[in-house]
Amino acid sequence: MEDFYGQVQRPKYDCLLFDLDDTLYPLSAGLAEAVRQNIEDYMVQRLGIEKSIINDLGNLLYKNYGTTMAGLRAIGYDFDYDEYHSFVHGRLPYENLKPDPVLRSLLLSLPFRKVIFTNADKIHATKVLSRLGLEGCFEGIICFETLNPVHKNAASDDEDDIEFVGSKPLTSSNSGIFDIIGHFAQPNPGTTLPKTPIVCKPSVDAIEKALKIANINPHRTLFFEDSVRNIQAGKRVGLHTVLVGKSQRVKGADYAFESIHNIKEAIPELSEADKLAEVNYNSGVPVETSVTA
Ligand SMILES: [Mg+2]
Repeated sequence: MEDFYGQVQRPKYDCLLFDLDDTLYPLSAGLAEAVRQNIEDYMVQRLGIEKSIINDLGNLLYKNYGTTMAGLRAIGYDFDYDEYHSFVHGRLPYENLKPDPVLRSLLLSLPFRKVIFTNADKIHATKVLSRLGLEGCFEGIICFETLNPVHKNAASDDEDDIEFVGSKPLTSSNSGIFDIIGHFAQPNPGTTLPKTPIVCKPSVDAIEKALKIANINPHRTLFFEDSVRNIQAGKRVGLHTVLVGKSQRVKGADYAFESIHNIKEAIPELSEADKLAEVNYNSGVPVETSVTA
């Protein structure tokens, strides 16, 4: 594209970074609600946490650690990450997700790098993209495994360690568990919250790590998300932000719209780039991030 002075104009963006769940398909599909239920079941059935505190505990962990999983690890529960993910995602109503050819052609018409960035695991991400008929629309997937090296391998050099981990009593009365409910009920200035070993949104570190792995410049990237706090964290690292699923902009969101289908009407630069896409946007190096094992 040449401007009035005959100079070649550069598009404002060169990468579109997409959250997956409740961003590329609507909340009304019901997956988020099923995930919440499965997490609660996991806490009761696999970690032996008392049912009466699940709601409060889950909320506190989610609020303070980004994901319930990250919070559970922080306060002292140990479990296999793959097993957690298969429990939480294994029984989801994936049949509610239908192929979305409109979104597929929208994405394919946009001459930018397109990358998925999700806190979920790779199996879930792949399944969702396949259900939506969006295979091949993205250069790569940054998922849980990308940011978190495989947990079980940490102990696999020594079989005794595996035995030990497996035989630990995992109950809420276990003295090794940090009492986060008590911590917030009666704050003690001397106590700080334990840190989580899990790297996930909305931590700024997680976003920066993801950008680095995929070689993404935040200042030339649009970040699509349904989560307000992820949007705000994205803004802090310099991303241009788009809140999806809400028509009202919030602090930290440069754009907001109800459905990902509105992408071109809502962001004029994207349709302009589309019209003038004579450039070969084969977009360089593929992101080798989706697979870690
Ligand atoms: Mg989401």
